[in-house]
Amino acid sequence: MIVAIGKKTLALILVCVILAQICLLFAISYTSFPAQENLSTFTIVIDAGHGGVDSGVVGVNTNVKESDLNLLYAQCLGSMFANVGAEVVYTRKTQDGLYGLATKGFKRRDMQKRKAIIESCNPTLVVSVHMNKFALSSRQGPQVFFQKGDEKSGEFASKVQQSLNKFTQNNHSHLSGDFYVCRCADVPSIIVEFGFLSNPIEEEKLQQEKYMFDICNQTFFGIMTYLYSM
Ligand SMILES: [Zn+2]
Repeated sequence: MIVAIGKKTLALILVCVILAQICLLFAISYTSFPAQENLSTFTIVIDAGHGGVDSGVVGVNTNVKESDLNLLYAQCLGSMFANVGAEVVYTRKTQDGLYGLATKGFKRRDMQKRKAIIESCNPTLVVSVHMNKFALSSRQGPQVFFQKGDEKSGEFASKVQQSLNKFTQNNHSHLSGDFYVCRCADVPSIIVEFGFLSNPIEEEKLQQEKYMFDICNQTFFGIMTYLYSM
């Protein structure tokens, strides 16, 4: 009898624990992932930097091309927004550049094509995906850039940088400069440099699928934090 009561009590406790976990899960998902309809009018441009004959920087040990990694990271990040019902526009979906023939002026044509894509979709936010390089191989960690003097983009860059710093335990600041891709539309626009291909340890990490997913996820949360503060 005592055993029977014990079993019932145990079952009751178990049910309570499961219910509590379900409530907690709902609470987390409600605060972290907004309802799909809230994001249906949200369009994000994910721009994979470089492509084609313009490979960007290359890995110090493996010669991995920045342009190839940018494409993978752009798709990974973009799919996270598609999963919550946002409209995702990619400037490029293949390893090719956007310049047509690789003749004189291809870089200018490539950037103009990106601008045309950004302008045509009237986005809420623009995120350009890149990998970094520095003379000192010890330099590491993601860094977020924005157009100097653009306050909204500065706030956007700050939120994403803070989110990435939590993940990588860095205290990098978001940085300003003059960037064509950040001037294509009058909406908050940033460049995320996910890491340094000049750092052998980071070069290896950046090519790991789990690391890519985790750092894109952290970027996603940073962007969502900004979106809900707009
Ligand atoms: Zn680049």
